[in-house]
Amino acid sequence: MHLVQLGKRYREETRSVEVVAPSNIIAGSIVWVEDPEVAWIDGEVKEIKGEKITVKCTSGKLVVSKTSNVYPKDPEFPPSGVDDMTKLAYLHEPGVLQNLRCRFDINEIYTYTGGILIAINPFQRLPHLYENRVMEKYKGANVGELSPHPFAIADSAYRQMLKEQISQAILVSGESGAGKTESTKMLMQYLAFMGGRNNNTGERSVEQKVLESNPVLEAFGNAKTVRNNNSSRFGKFVEIQFDGRGRISGAAIRTYLLERSRVCQVSDPERNYHCFYMLCAAPPEDVEKFKVGNPRTFHYLNQSNCFELDVLDDSKEYLETKRAMDIVGINQAEQEAIFRVVAAILHLGNVEFVKGKKTDGAEPKDDKSRLHLKTAADLFMCDEKSLEDSLCKRVIVTRGDRITKSLDPATAAISRDALAKIDPESKFLIGVLDIYGFESFKTNSFEQFCINLTNEKLQQHFNQMEQEEYKKEQIDWSYIEFVDNQDILDLVEKTFKDHKRFVKPKLSRTDFTICHYAGDVTYQTELFLEKNKDLVVPEHQALLNASKCSFVSSLFPPLPEETSKSSKFSSIATGFKQQLQSLLETLNATEPHYVRCIKPNNALKPGIFENNNILQQLRCGGVMEAIRISTAGFPSRKMFREFINRFSILAPEVLNGSYNDVAASKRILEKSNLSGYQVGKTKVFLRAGQMAELDARRGAIL
Ligand code: ADP
Ligand code: MG
Repeated sequence: MHLVQLGKRYREETRSVEVVAPSNIIAGSIVWVEDPEVAWIDGEVKEIKGEKITVKCTSGKLVVSKTSNVYPKDPEFPPSGVDDMTKLAYLHEPGVLQNLRCRFDINEIYTYTGGILIAINPFQRLPHLYENRVMEKYKGANVGELSPHPFAIADSAYRQMLKEQISQAILVSGESGAGKTESTKMLMQYLAFMGGRNNNTGERSVEQKVLESNPVLEAFGNAKTVRNNNSSRFGKFVEIQFDGRGRISGAAIRTYLLERSRVCQVSDPERNYHCFYMLCAAPPEDVEKFKVGNPRTFHYLNQSNCFELDVLDDSKEYLETKRAMDIVGINQAEQEAIFRVVAAILHLGNVEFVKGKKTDGAEPKDDKSRLHLKTAADLFMCDEKSLEDSLCKRVIVTRGDRITKSLDPATAAISRDALAKIDPESKFLIGVLDIYGFESFKTNSFEQFCINLTNEKLQQHFNQMEQEEYKKEQIDWSYIEFVDNQDILDLVEKTFKDHKRFVKPKLSRTDFTICHYAGDVTYQTELFLEKNKDLVVPEHQALLNASKCSFVSSLFPPLPEETSKSSKFSSIATGFKQQLQSLLETLNATEPHYVRCIKPNNALKPGIFENNNILQQLRCGGVMEAIRISTAGFPSRKMFREFINRFSILAPEVLNGSYNDVAASKRILEKSNLSGYQVGKTKVFLRAGQMAELDARRGAIL
C-alpha cells in the first residue's frame, strides 16, 4: 500500500503524514501526469533527469513534468474498478478519478471512500438500483458485503441507532444538480421501509406521509434553474423519529434559507417556483376560482421566456401536489387558502405604480393595475383599500420588495404542519440533511456567502467528529494533520481585519475574497445589505393578519409590540446564524454518515464524465480531504465482537474456552502480520486497505 499525496492544495499540509514519494518510479514505469484537458493522463516514463521526468503519454504526446507531479499508475487495476477507494493500491487523485470513471461507465454510480458514500448522478433511471427488492437485499446486510448504495448507508444508520441507542444523521452534500434530493428520497424510502409498521386501519401511515411530503415541498420550494430542472431553493433537514424498537413514531421537517428573491425576480432561462405554473395549468374550474390564466400574462413569470419544461407536466403536477397535500393532512380549505395566496402573489406582481397625482405617495398606474389589486385583495380576503394603502403609503415603493415575505411563511407552514407527530414516545431520530454544497460562481453574493459559511461549519463538524472518535477510543492520532478551519469561522463571525484568509482585491472597492477550505471565493458586496434585509413590513403583516380567511391570517401572526413600532429591519443573517447554530447542535448529538453527490457534467445528460469538473467537486466537497484524513488515519473500524465474528477464522484458537474481546482481536491482528492498526476501547481501527487484506485471507480459507 502506497500513500501518495493528494492534489496540490494539500502538498504543503501533508508533510507530516506518512507519505511515500514516488521514488519507485523509474524509466519504463507507467504513470499519471497532469494534462490541461483531461486532468490526468497515463503514459510511460522515458527519462528521469533530476527534478524532471519525460513521459510519453497514451495520447502520443511527450510531456516533461516535475517529479512531484507524477504519480505511479496501478498496473493491476481491475477493469471494473473497486467499490471502496481504500482498496486502491495507490490512493491519489488520478487513481480516485480513474476508479470513479470506470465504475460510472458500467453504471456503478456508487463508491465508498471509507465510510463516505460517493454518488455520481447518472442522469437516467437505473432500475436495478431502486426497485423494492433491492431494499430487501440491503436489509441487515453488512456495509461492504453488497455494492455501495444509499440503502446501505441508511441501513447502517438504522442499525447503529438501535444497537448504540443514539440518534443518527445522514449528511448529503454536493453542488446543485448533483443528486442530493434524489439521494435523500432514497434514504427516506429505505428508512420508511425499515421503520414502517403494518396498519390495517386504512389511514395513511407516518412513513407514507414522510414520503409524500416531497412533492409538496418541491411544488413550493423547487424551480428550474440553469443547473438543475428541479432545483431545491432551500435546505432541508428531515427528521424521522423512532421508538425504542425502531418503529417510526413521527417526523418533522426543518427548512433553511429559501431563496425568496426568486418570487419577484427570475432571469432567462430559469423559472419561478413550480407552484405558480402548476396553478396556471390547473383544471378550468380551478383556474377560474383562483383567477389565474396564461403564465405569460404575469410579470413575476414573464421576466423569463421559459414557461414549460419537457420533463415536467404542470397540470399533472398540480393534481399530484394536491393529492400529496391530502396525504400529508392539509385539508381542502387549507389547500384552497394556500393556492389563493399563490394566485394573489401573481396578481400583486402585475400592479404597477405611478407617483400619486393628489398625494406625495404612489398610486396604481391605471385601471388594469387597479383590477389586479382588487383581485389580489379578493384572493387574500382582505380589504382592498387597506391593501392599496399598505403598498402605497410607504415612503419608498419599489417594484421588487412588495411581497417578498409572502411565499416563505406559506412554505414554512406547510413543512411545519405537514407531518403530524402521532406518537409522543420518540426515543431517537435519524435526520437526513439535504443542503446546498459549496458554491463559487462568476459573481457571488449574499446567498453564496451564507451557503459557503454553512459548508465551512459542516466541514469543521466532520473534522471534529473524526477527532472525537479517536479521542474517545484513545487512539493516537497526533500525526494526522487536520486542516483546522476555525480561523475562517472566526473571520466571518468575529472580525475581518488583517486576517490571512481575507483578501481585498486591489482593483475593486466593493469585492472581498475569502480563502475557504474548498477554495477561494470572491464576493461582490453591492447587494449584500439589501439581501440581508428581512422585509417584514408591519403594515403588510397587519393587513394579512386581518384576512377573513383564518388560514391566511394564521400565516401572518401579529408582530410583537416592539417590532411593529420601532425596528422594521431584521437581518436574514441573524436568523440564518441561529438556524445554523441549532442545526449543529442537533448534529452534535448524532452519529454522522456522509453521502457526497457528484454531478458528472453540466449538460445534465447520461454517459458524460467530465474529468476536470468532477475533480473540482471532489476537492470542493471535501472528498479529497476526507480521503486524505482517512488515509492518514483509520478508515475502517469494527466493534470487537463484529471483528471477531468475521475474522476468528484467521485464528480459530482465540475462540477456545472463555476469551476476552480485546485479547482475541489483538491475537487475530498479530497473526495476520499487519502493522500500523490500533486497538481502541471498543473497536479495532484499521489502516486503509487492511480490511480488504483481511477479507481476502478470509475468502481464501472459506
Ligand atoms: P440536487 O438536489 O443535488 O440539486 P437533484 O437530486 O434534484 O439534485 O437531481 C437533479 C436531477 O438529476 C434529478 O431531477 C434527476 O433527473 C437526476 N438524478 C439525480 N439523481 C438521480 C439518480 N440516482 N437516478 C436517476 N436520476 C437522478
Ligand atoms: Mg435539491
